[in-house]
Amino acid sequence: MILYVFNHKYHYELENLCRVFFPQEKIQINRAGGASLFRRGRLAKPLVAITRRAEDTLRVCLYTGARRLRLSRRCGENDELTLARMLFVLLRRETGCRPPWGLLTGVRPSKLMLRLRRDKGEAEAERYFCGALWVSREKTRLAAAVARAEEPILALTGPRTFSLYLAVPFCPSRCAYCSFVSHTVERASARKLIPAYVEKLCEEMARTGEIAAALGLELASVYIGGGTPTILSAQQMRQICEALRRSFAAPGEFTVEAGRPDTITAEKLCALKEHGVTRLSVNPQSMNDEVLAAAGRRHTAQEVLEAYALARGFGFGAINMDLIAGLPGDTPEGFCASLRRIIALRPENITVHTLALKRSAQWGGAGLTDAGVARMLRAAAELLPAAGYAPYYMYRQSRSLGNLENIGWSLPGHACRYNVDMMEESHTILACGAGGVTKLKQYGTDYLERVFSLKYPYEYLARFEELLRRKESMKAFYQTYNSGSEAASDHP
Ligand code: SF4
Repeated sequence: MILYVFNHKYHYELENLCRVFFPQEKIQINRAGGASLFRRGRLAKPLVAITRRAEDTLRVCLYTGARRLRLSRRCGENDELTLARMLFVLLRRETGCRPPWGLLTGVRPSKLMLRLRRDKGEAEAERYFCGALWVSREKTRLAAAVARAEEPILALTGPRTFSLYLAVPFCPSRCAYCSFVSHTVERASARKLIPAYVEKLCEEMARTGEIAAALGLELASVYIGGGTPTILSAQQMRQICEALRRSFAAPGEFTVEAGRPDTITAEKLCALKEHGVTRLSVNPQSMNDEVLAAAGRRHTAQEVLEAYALARGFGFGAINMDLIAGLPGDTPEGFCASLRRIIALRPENITVHTLALKRSAQWGGAGLTDAGVARMLRAAAELLPAAGYAPYYMYRQSRSLGNLENIGWSLPGHACRYNVDMMEESHTILACGAGGVTKLKQYGTDYLERVFSLKYPYEYLARFEELLRRKESMKAFYQTYNSGSEAASDHP
Protein backbone atom coordinates (compact mmCIF):
# COMPACT_ATOMS: atom_id res chain seq x y z
CA MET A 1 0.00 0.00 0.00
CA ILE A 2 1.19 3.52 -0.71
CA LEU A 3 0.21 6.38 1.58
CA TYR A 4 0.78 9.76 -0.03
CA VAL A 5 1.24 12.64 2.37
CA PHE A 6 1.07 16.17 0.97
CA ASN A 7 1.40 19.42 2.91
CA HIS A 8 0.87 18.02 6.41
CA LYS A 9 2.89 16.26 9.12
CA TYR A 10 0.51 13.56 10.33
CA HIS A 11 1.87 10.57 8.47
CA TYR A 12 2.63 8.54 11.62
CA GLU A 13 -0.95 8.27 12.84
CA LEU A 14 -2.34 7.78 9.32
CA GLU A 15 0.13 5.01 8.59
CA ASN A 16 -0.90 3.25 11.80
CA LEU A 17 -4.54 3.50 10.77
CA CYS A 18 -3.79 1.92 7.38
CA ARG A 19 -2.06 -0.90 9.24
CA VAL A 20 -5.16 -1.52 11.36
CA PHE A 21 -7.11 -2.32 8.18
CA PHE A 22 -4.27 -3.98 6.26
CA PRO A 23 -2.04 -5.54 8.95
CA GLN A 24 0.07 -7.61 6.59
CA GLU A 25 0.57 -4.92 3.92
CA LYS A 26 3.87 -3.10 3.69
CA ILE A 27 2.95 0.56 3.87
CA GLN A 28 5.12 2.91 1.92
CA ILE A 29 5.00 6.63 2.67
CA ASN A 30 5.45 8.92 -0.30
CA ARG A 31 5.63 12.68 -0.29
CA ALA A 32 6.52 13.18 -3.95
CA GLY A 33 4.32 13.29 -7.00
CA GLY A 34 2.13 16.32 -6.47
CA ALA A 35 -1.23 16.90 -8.08
CA SER A 36 -0.48 14.76 -11.14
CA LEU A 37 -0.94 11.67 -8.96
CA PHE A 38 -4.57 12.42 -8.60
CA ARG A 39 -5.10 11.28 -12.14
CA ARG A 40 -5.97 7.62 -11.71
CA GLY A 41 -3.78 6.33 -14.48
CA ARG A 42 -0.59 7.46 -12.72
CA LEU A 43 -1.05 5.37 -9.57
CA ALA A 44 1.31 2.43 -9.50
CA LYS A 45 -0.30 0.21 -6.84
CA PRO A 46 -3.83 -1.17 -6.56
CA LEU A 47 -4.10 0.16 -2.99
CA VAL A 48 -3.33 3.84 -2.57
CA ALA A 49 -4.40 6.46 -0.03
CA ILE A 50 -3.73 10.11 -0.75
CA THR A 51 -3.98 12.61 2.07
CA ARG A 52 -3.35 16.29 1.58
CA ARG A 53 -3.94 19.73 2.86
CA ALA A 54 -4.66 22.35 0.21
CA GLU A 55 -5.10 25.85 1.60
CA ASP A 56 -7.97 25.51 4.11
CA THR A 57 -9.18 22.10 2.94
CA LEU A 58 -8.19 18.57 3.96
CA ARG A 59 -8.69 15.84 1.39
CA VAL A 60 -8.42 12.07 1.55
CA CYS A 61 -8.75 9.78 -1.48
CA LEU A 62 -8.65 6.02 -1.46
CA TYR A 63 -7.91 4.15 -4.68
CA THR A 64 -8.34 0.41 -4.72
CA GLY A 65 -7.80 -0.39 -8.36
CA ALA A 66 -11.50 -0.76 -9.02
CA ARG A 67 -12.86 2.11 -6.95
CA ARG A 68 -12.06 5.66 -5.98
CA LEU A 69 -13.49 7.06 -2.72
CA ARG A 70 -13.04 10.67 -1.66
CA LEU A 71 -13.78 12.93 1.28
CA SER A 72 -12.89 16.51 2.08
CA ARG A 73 -13.34 18.78 5.12
CA ARG A 74 -12.41 22.32 6.09
CA CYS A 75 -9.26 22.66 8.23
CA GLY A 76 -10.00 23.29 11.89
CA GLU A 77 -8.62 22.94 15.40
CA ASN A 78 -7.44 19.35 15.08
CA ASP A 79 -6.43 18.55 11.51
CA GLU A 80 -4.75 15.30 12.53
CA LEU A 81 -8.00 13.97 13.98
CA THR A 82 -9.99 15.19 10.98
CA LEU A 83 -7.64 13.49 8.50
CA ALA A 84 -7.66 10.31 10.59
CA ARG A 85 -11.46 10.26 10.69
CA MET A 86 -11.78 10.72 6.93
CA LEU A 87 -9.24 8.00 6.21
CA PHE A 88 -10.92 5.71 8.75
CA VAL A 89 -14.34 6.22 7.15
CA LEU A 90 -13.00 5.40 3.68
CA LEU A 91 -11.05 2.37 4.85
CA ARG A 92 -14.09 1.09 6.72
CA ARG A 93 -16.30 1.63 3.71
CA GLU A 94 -13.86 -0.21 1.49
CA THR A 95 -13.09 -3.17 3.76
CA GLY A 96 -16.30 -3.52 5.78
CA CYS A 97 -14.15 -3.84 8.95
CA ARG A 98 -15.24 -2.06 12.12
CA PRO A 99 -12.10 -1.94 14.29
CA PRO A 100 -13.22 -2.06 17.94
CA TRP A 101 -10.55 0.41 19.03
CA GLY A 102 -11.71 2.96 16.44
CA LEU A 103 -9.12 5.62 15.73
CA LEU A 104 -6.95 4.56 18.65
CA THR A 105 -3.83 2.98 17.23
CA GLY A 106 -1.45 3.40 20.19
CA VAL A 107 -0.16 0.53 22.28
CA ARG A 108 -1.40 2.04 25.56
CA PRO A 109 -5.15 2.81 25.48
CA SER A 110 -5.35 2.83 29.28
CA LYS A 111 -2.63 5.49 29.46
CA LEU A 112 -4.83 7.81 27.41
CA MET A 113 -7.87 6.85 29.50
CA LEU A 114 -5.96 7.66 32.71
CA ARG A 115 -4.96 11.07 31.37
CA LEU A 116 -8.49 11.87 30.23
CA ARG A 117 -9.91 10.81 33.60
CA ARG A 118 -7.47 13.14 35.33
CA ASP A 119 -8.17 16.07 32.97
CA LYS A 120 -11.87 15.70 32.20
CA GLY A 121 -13.31 13.32 34.78
CA GLU A 122 -14.59 9.77 34.42
CA ALA A 123 -17.78 10.33 32.41
CA GLU A 124 -16.22 12.79 29.96
CA ALA A 125 -13.20 10.50 29.41
CA GLU A 126 -15.50 7.66 28.36
CA ARG A 127 -17.56 9.97 26.17
CA TYR A 128 -14.38 11.09 24.40
CA PHE A 129 -13.35 7.48 23.73
CA CYS A 130 -16.73 6.61 22.20
CA GLY A 131 -17.67 9.92 20.60
CA ALA A 132 -14.41 11.40 19.36
CA LEU A 133 -12.22 8.34 18.88
CA TRP A 134 -14.98 5.95 17.84
CA VAL A 135 -13.89 3.25 20.29
CA SER A 136 -16.63 0.65 20.83
CA ARG A 137 -18.58 0.77 24.12
CA GLU A 138 -17.18 -2.63 25.10
CA LYS A 139 -13.55 -1.49 24.67
CA THR A 140 -14.24 1.87 26.31
CA ARG A 141 -15.59 0.07 29.39
CA LEU A 142 -12.55 -2.21 29.37
CA ALA A 143 -10.05 0.68 29.20
CA ALA A 144 -11.95 2.46 31.99
CA ALA A 145 -11.90 -0.68 34.19
CA VAL A 146 -8.14 -1.03 33.67
CA ALA A 147 -7.57 2.65 34.48
CA ARG A 148 -9.60 2.31 37.69
CA ALA A 149 -7.54 -0.73 38.75
CA GLU A 150 -4.27 1.03 37.94
CA GLU A 151 -4.88 4.31 39.75
CA PRO A 152 -4.08 3.07 43.30
CA ILE A 153 -0.99 1.22 42.04
CA LEU A 154 0.29 4.27 40.18
CA ALA A 155 -0.22 6.36 43.31
CA LEU A 156 2.68 4.39 44.86
CA THR A 157 5.22 5.86 42.42
CA GLY A 158 7.31 8.89 43.36
CA PRO A 159 10.10 10.97 41.85
CA ARG A 160 12.76 8.50 43.00
CA THR A 161 11.02 5.14 42.57
CA PHE A 162 12.10 2.84 39.75
CA SER A 163 11.77 -0.72 38.48
CA LEU A 164 14.58 -2.97 37.36
CA TYR A 165 14.34 -5.23 34.30
CA LEU A 166 16.87 -8.01 33.78
CA ALA A 167 16.96 -9.60 30.32
CA VAL A 168 17.80 -13.25 29.71
CA PRO A 169 17.33 -13.56 25.93
CA PHE A 170 17.69 -17.33 25.59
CA CYS A 171 14.99 -19.96 25.04
CA PRO A 172 14.86 -23.75 24.78
CA SER A 173 13.45 -23.55 21.22
CA ARG A 174 11.83 -20.87 19.12
CA CYS A 175 8.04 -20.53 19.17
CA ALA A 176 6.61 -20.14 15.66
CA TYR A 177 4.94 -16.81 16.54
CA CYS A 178 7.96 -15.30 18.32
CA SER A 179 9.14 -11.85 17.27
CA PHE A 180 11.52 -11.25 20.19
CA VAL A 181 15.26 -11.27 19.98
CA SER A 182 15.78 -14.54 21.74
CA HIS A 183 18.38 -17.19 21.02
CA THR A 184 17.50 -20.82 21.10
CA VAL A 185 19.95 -22.90 23.06
CA GLU A 186 19.45 -25.68 20.52
CA ARG A 187 22.34 -23.92 18.78
CA ALA A 188 25.62 -24.69 20.54
CA SER A 189 26.96 -21.25 19.61
CA ALA A 190 24.15 -19.59 21.61
CA ARG A 191 24.46 -22.06 24.50
CA LYS A 192 28.16 -21.33 24.82
CA LEU A 193 27.48 -17.62 25.42
CA ILE A 194 25.38 -18.15 28.54
CA PRO A 195 28.08 -18.35 31.28
CA ALA A 196 29.83 -15.19 30.04
CA TYR A 197 26.47 -13.49 29.59
CA VAL A 198 25.48 -14.17 33.20
CA GLU A 199 28.85 -12.79 34.40
CA LYS A 200 28.41 -9.58 32.44
CA LEU A 201 24.79 -9.20 33.48
CA CYS A 202 25.90 -9.32 37.13
CA GLU A 203 28.60 -6.75 36.39
CA GLU A 204 26.09 -4.45 34.70
CA MET A 205 23.73 -4.80 37.67
CA ALA A 206 26.56 -3.81 40.03
CA ARG A 207 27.31 -0.63 38.04
CA THR A 208 23.61 0.20 37.65
CA GLY A 209 23.13 -0.31 41.39
CA GLU A 210 26.00 2.10 42.16
CA ILE A 211 24.51 4.81 39.96
CA ALA A 212 20.98 4.24 41.33
CA ALA A 213 22.29 4.50 44.91
CA ALA A 214 24.25 7.66 44.08
CA LEU A 215 21.06 9.21 42.75
CA GLY A 216 19.05 8.12 45.79
CA LEU A 217 16.69 5.95 43.74
CA GLU A 218 14.31 3.50 45.44
CA LEU A 219 13.77 0.07 43.91
CA ALA A 220 10.04 -0.72 43.71
CA SER A 221 10.01 -3.94 41.66
CA VAL A 222 12.24 -6.34 39.75
CA TYR A 223 11.28 -8.34 36.69
CA ILE A 224 13.50 -10.99 35.13
CA GLY A 225 12.22 -11.62 31.62
CA GLY A 226 13.45 -12.78 28.29
CA GLY A 227 13.47 -15.11 26.56
CA THR A 228 13.00 -17.74 29.19
CA PRO A 229 15.08 -16.94 32.30
CA THR A 230 14.58 -20.46 33.66
CA ILE A 231 16.66 -21.77 30.78
CA LEU A 232 19.56 -20.91 33.11
CA SER A 233 20.82 -23.49 35.59
CA ALA A 234 19.86 -23.20 39.27
CA GLN A 235 23.43 -22.09 39.95
CA GLN A 236 23.27 -19.34 37.32
CA MET A 237 19.97 -18.10 38.74
CA ARG A 238 21.52 -17.99 42.21
CA GLN A 239 24.41 -16.01 40.74
CA ILE A 240 21.99 -13.40 39.33
CA CYS A 241 19.89 -13.22 42.51
CA GLU A 242 23.00 -12.79 44.66
CA ALA A 243 24.28 -10.01 42.40
CA LEU A 244 20.88 -8.38 42.72
CA ARG A 245 21.05 -8.55 46.52
CA ARG A 246 24.57 -7.06 46.57
CA SER A 247 23.69 -4.26 44.14
CA PHE A 248 20.21 -3.11 45.24
CA ALA A 249 17.98 -2.91 48.30
CA ALA A 250 15.39 -5.72 48.51
CA PRO A 251 12.45 -4.95 46.19
CA GLY A 252 8.85 -5.14 47.36
CA GLU A 253 7.98 -7.23 44.32
CA PHE A 254 10.25 -9.68 42.48
CA THR A 255 8.94 -11.48 39.39
CA VAL A 256 10.60 -14.17 37.31
CA GLU A 257 9.23 -15.21 33.95
CA ALA A 258 9.57 -18.98 34.13
CA GLY A 259 7.71 -19.06 30.84
CA ARG A 260 8.23 -22.46 29.36
CA PRO A 261 7.11 -25.27 31.68
CA ASP A 262 9.77 -27.55 30.17
CA THR A 263 12.50 -25.44 31.83
CA ILE A 264 11.06 -25.53 35.36
CA THR A 265 12.68 -27.82 37.94
CA ALA A 266 12.45 -28.10 41.72
CA GLU A 267 16.09 -27.08 42.07
CA LYS A 268 15.55 -23.84 40.12
CA LEU A 269 12.35 -23.00 41.99
CA CYS A 270 14.13 -23.60 45.26
CA ALA A 271 16.90 -21.16 44.24
CA LEU A 272 14.32 -18.52 43.29
CA LYS A 273 12.30 -18.95 46.46
CA GLU A 274 15.40 -18.76 48.66
CA HIS A 275 16.32 -15.47 47.00
CA GLY A 276 13.05 -13.69 47.62
CA VAL A 277 11.19 -14.15 44.32
CA THR A 278 7.54 -13.29 45.01
CA ARG A 279 5.92 -13.88 41.63
CA LEU A 280 6.36 -16.42 38.88
CA SER A 281 4.95 -16.85 35.37
CA VAL A 282 4.23 -20.34 34.09
CA ASN A 283 2.93 -19.89 30.56
CA PRO A 284 0.86 -22.57 28.85
CA GLN A 285 -0.31 -20.38 25.89
CA SER A 286 -2.79 -23.19 25.15
CA MET A 287 -3.88 -26.37 26.91
CA ASN A 288 -4.32 -28.21 23.63
CA ASP A 289 -1.32 -30.39 22.73
CA GLU A 290 -1.85 -30.13 18.98
CA VAL A 291 -2.01 -26.34 19.13
CA LEU A 292 1.12 -26.30 21.29
CA ALA A 293 3.00 -28.55 18.87
CA ALA A 294 2.03 -26.37 15.90
CA ALA A 295 3.26 -23.32 17.82
CA GLY A 296 6.65 -24.96 18.36
CA ARG A 297 6.25 -24.97 22.13
CA ARG A 298 7.79 -28.43 22.73
CA HIS A 299 5.80 -29.06 25.91
CA THR A 300 2.42 -30.61 26.63
CA ALA A 301 -0.56 -29.45 28.66
CA GLN A 302 0.28 -32.16 31.19
CA GLU A 303 3.74 -30.63 31.69
CA VAL A 304 2.05 -27.27 32.35
CA LEU A 305 -0.04 -28.87 35.09
CA GLU A 306 3.01 -30.52 36.62
CA ALA A 307 5.11 -27.32 36.50
CA TYR A 308 2.26 -25.35 38.04
CA ALA A 309 1.78 -27.87 40.86
CA LEU A 310 5.52 -27.84 41.55
CA ALA A 311 5.63 -24.02 41.65
CA ARG A 312 2.54 -23.85 43.88
CA GLY A 313 4.24 -26.19 46.32
CA PHE A 314 7.05 -23.65 46.84
CA GLY A 315 4.57 -21.03 48.05
CA PHE A 316 5.25 -18.17 45.66
CA GLY A 317 2.92 -15.27 46.47
CA ALA A 318 1.46 -15.10 42.96
CA ILE A 319 1.61 -17.15 39.78
CA ASN A 320 0.68 -15.77 36.38
CA MET A 321 -0.33 -17.93 33.42
CA ASP A 322 -0.39 -16.63 29.82
CA LEU A 323 -2.77 -17.76 27.10
CA ILE A 324 -2.77 -16.69 23.44
CA ALA A 325 -5.99 -16.18 21.51
CA GLY A 326 -5.73 -16.92 17.80
CA LEU A 327 -3.07 -19.63 17.62
CA PRO A 328 -3.40 -21.56 14.34
CA GLY A 329 -5.28 -24.80 14.84
CA ASP A 330 -7.18 -23.42 17.82
CA THR A 331 -10.91 -22.64 17.81
CA PRO A 332 -13.07 -20.44 20.05
CA GLU A 333 -14.34 -23.61 21.76
CA GLY A 334 -10.79 -24.93 22.18
CA PHE A 335 -9.60 -21.63 23.57
CA CYS A 336 -12.45 -21.57 26.10
CA ALA A 337 -11.60 -25.12 27.15
CA SER A 338 -7.96 -24.04 27.74
CA LEU A 339 -9.09 -21.01 29.70
CA ARG A 340 -11.46 -23.06 31.87
CA ARG A 341 -8.65 -25.48 32.73
CA ILE A 342 -6.40 -22.57 33.69
CA ILE A 343 -9.11 -20.88 35.77
CA ALA A 344 -9.64 -24.16 37.63
CA LEU A 345 -6.01 -23.96 38.81
CA ARG A 346 -6.71 -20.54 40.42
CA PRO A 347 -3.46 -18.76 39.48
CA GLU A 348 -3.51 -15.23 40.88
CA ASN A 349 -3.03 -13.74 37.39
CA ILE A 350 -4.09 -14.83 33.93
CA THR A 351 -2.87 -12.85 30.93
CA VAL A 352 -4.77 -13.24 27.68
CA HIS A 353 -2.76 -12.19 24.63
CA THR A 354 -4.01 -11.79 21.10
CA LEU A 355 -1.73 -13.36 18.52
CA ALA A 356 0.27 -10.72 16.65
CA LEU A 357 2.09 -11.85 13.56
CA LYS A 358 5.19 -9.72 13.13
CA ARG A 359 7.42 -9.99 10.12
CA SER A 360 10.13 -11.65 12.20
CA ALA A 361 7.83 -14.55 13.16
CA GLN A 362 8.16 -17.83 11.27
CA TRP A 363 4.43 -18.04 10.61
CA GLY A 364 3.29 -16.19 7.52
CA GLY A 365 -0.40 -16.02 8.38
CA ALA A 366 -2.92 -17.07 10.95
CA GLY A 367 -5.49 -19.80 10.62
CA LEU A 368 -8.21 -18.00 12.51
CA THR A 369 -10.45 -15.17 11.36
CA ASP A 370 -10.62 -11.86 13.19
CA ALA A 371 -14.19 -12.72 14.17
CA GLY A 372 -13.00 -16.00 15.72
CA VAL A 373 -10.39 -14.20 17.82
CA ALA A 374 -12.95 -11.59 18.87
CA ARG A 375 -15.18 -14.45 20.08
CA MET A 376 -12.28 -15.80 22.16
CA LEU A 377 -11.68 -12.45 23.84
CA ARG A 378 -15.39 -11.95 24.45
CA ALA A 379 -15.56 -15.36 26.10
CA ALA A 380 -12.54 -14.48 28.26
CA ALA A 381 -14.27 -11.25 29.30
CA GLU A 382 -17.20 -13.34 30.54
CA LEU A 383 -15.44 -16.33 32.07
CA LEU A 384 -12.75 -14.45 33.96
CA PRO A 385 -14.94 -11.93 35.86
CA ALA A 386 -17.34 -14.75 36.69
CA ALA A 387 -14.40 -16.53 38.35
CA GLY A 388 -13.37 -13.43 40.34
CA TYR A 389 -10.70 -11.97 38.04
CA ALA A 390 -10.61 -8.28 37.06
CA PRO A 391 -8.61 -6.60 34.27
CA TYR A 392 -5.67 -4.61 35.71
CA TYR A 393 -3.32 -3.78 32.84
CA MET A 394 -3.47 -3.84 29.08
CA TYR A 395 -1.55 -3.14 25.92
CA ARG A 396 -1.92 -3.52 22.20
CA GLN A 397 0.51 -4.62 19.52
CA SER A 398 0.54 -3.76 15.87
CA ARG A 399 -0.55 -6.57 13.55
CA SER A 400 -2.53 -8.31 16.29
CA LEU A 401 -5.43 -10.33 14.93
CA GLY A 402 -8.62 -8.29 14.72
CA ASN A 403 -6.62 -5.31 16.02
CA LEU A 404 -7.38 -6.67 19.50
CA GLU A 405 -5.62 -6.27 22.82
CA ASN A 406 -3.69 -8.10 25.53
CA ILE A 407 -5.17 -8.03 29.01
CA GLY A 408 -3.72 -8.94 32.38
CA TRP A 409 -6.42 -10.28 34.75
CA SER A 410 -5.94 -10.56 38.47
CA LEU A 411 -7.62 -11.94 41.54
CA PRO A 412 -8.19 -9.15 44.12
CA GLY A 413 -4.97 -7.82 45.66
CA HIS A 414 -2.62 -9.64 43.28
CA ALA A 415 -1.98 -7.14 40.47
CA CYS A 416 1.64 -7.05 39.33
CA ARG A 417 3.00 -3.59 40.06
CA TYR A 418 5.84 -3.93 37.54
CA ASN A 419 3.39 -4.55 34.68
CA VAL A 420 1.37 -1.46 35.54
CA ASP A 421 4.38 0.84 35.96
CA MET A 422 5.98 -0.45 32.80
CA MET A 423 2.85 -0.16 30.65
CA GLU A 424 1.86 3.26 31.91
CA GLU A 425 5.45 4.54 31.88
CA SER A 426 4.85 5.98 35.32
CA HIS A 427 8.44 5.90 36.56
CA THR A 428 11.95 5.01 35.47
CA ILE A 429 12.69 1.48 34.31
CA LEU A 430 16.36 0.55 34.46
CA ALA A 431 17.17 -2.35 32.17
CA CYS A 432 20.21 -4.62 32.29
CA GLY A 433 21.12 -7.23 29.68
CA ALA A 434 21.03 -7.53 25.91
CA GLY A 435 18.03 -6.00 24.18
CA GLY A 436 16.90 -4.09 27.28
CA VAL A 437 15.70 -0.50 27.05
CA THR A 438 16.19 1.80 29.99
CA LYS A 439 13.45 4.42 30.20
CA LEU A 440 14.32 7.47 32.26
CA LYS A 441 11.20 9.29 33.33
CA GLN A 442 10.73 12.86 34.44
CA TYR A 443 8.32 12.46 37.30
CA GLY A 444 4.90 14.04 36.89
CA THR A 445 5.31 14.72 33.14
CA ASP A 446 5.21 12.64 29.97
CA TYR A 447 8.88 13.24 29.29
CA LEU A 448 10.93 10.11 28.85
CA GLU A 449 14.43 9.32 27.53
CA ARG A 450 15.39 5.90 26.28
CA VAL A 451 18.85 4.35 26.62
CA PHE A 452 19.18 1.30 24.41
CA SER A 453 21.28 -1.67 25.34
CA LEU A 454 23.03 -3.73 22.69
CA LYS A 455 20.58 -5.94 20.91
CA TYR A 456 22.24 -9.35 20.70
CA PRO A 457 24.11 -11.30 23.39
CA TYR A 458 27.31 -11.56 21.31
CA GLU A 459 27.30 -7.76 20.81
CA TYR A 460 26.56 -7.28 24.48
CA LEU A 461 29.63 -9.30 25.40
CA ALA A 462 31.88 -7.73 22.77
CA ARG A 463 30.93 -4.09 23.46
CA PHE A 464 30.24 -4.26 27.17
CA GLU A 465 32.45 -1.27 28.12
CA GLU A 466 30.59 0.91 25.63
CA LEU A 467 27.33 -0.18 27.22
CA LEU A 468 28.54 0.80 30.69
CA ARG A 469 29.45 4.23 29.35
CA ARG A 470 25.88 4.64 28.03
CA LYS A 471 24.62 4.04 31.56
CA GLU A 472 26.33 7.19 32.76
CA SER A 473 23.62 9.25 31.01
CA MET A 474 21.36 8.36 33.94
CA LYS A 475 23.21 10.86 36.12
CA ALA A 476 22.83 13.77 33.70
CA PHE A 477 19.15 12.93 33.25
CA TYR A 478 18.37 12.98 36.95
CA GLN A 479 20.39 16.14 37.49
CA THR A 480 18.50 17.88 34.69
CA TYR A 481 14.98 16.57 35.08
CA ASN A 482 14.41 15.17 38.55
CA SER A 483 16.90 17.05 40.72
CA GLY A 484 14.46 19.36 42.46
CA SER A 485 11.89 16.71 43.28
CA GLU A 486 13.74 15.14 46.19
CA ALA A 487 17.27 15.35 47.57
CA ALA A 488 19.63 12.76 46.14
CA SER A 489 21.64 10.77 48.64
CA ASP A 490 25.30 11.56 49.19
CA HIS A 491 26.36 8.06 48.23
CA PRO A 492 29.57 8.40 46.13
S1 SF4 B 1 9.29 -18.42 24.93
FE1 SF4 B 1 8.84 -16.30 24.33
S2 SF4 B 1 10.83 -15.39 23.80
FE2 SF4 B 1 11.09 -17.63 23.82
S3 SF4 B 1 10.80 -18.26 21.70
FE3 SF4 B 1 8.80 -18.45 22.73
S4 SF4 B 1 7.76 -16.48 22.38
FE4 SF4 B 1 9.96 -16.19 21.90
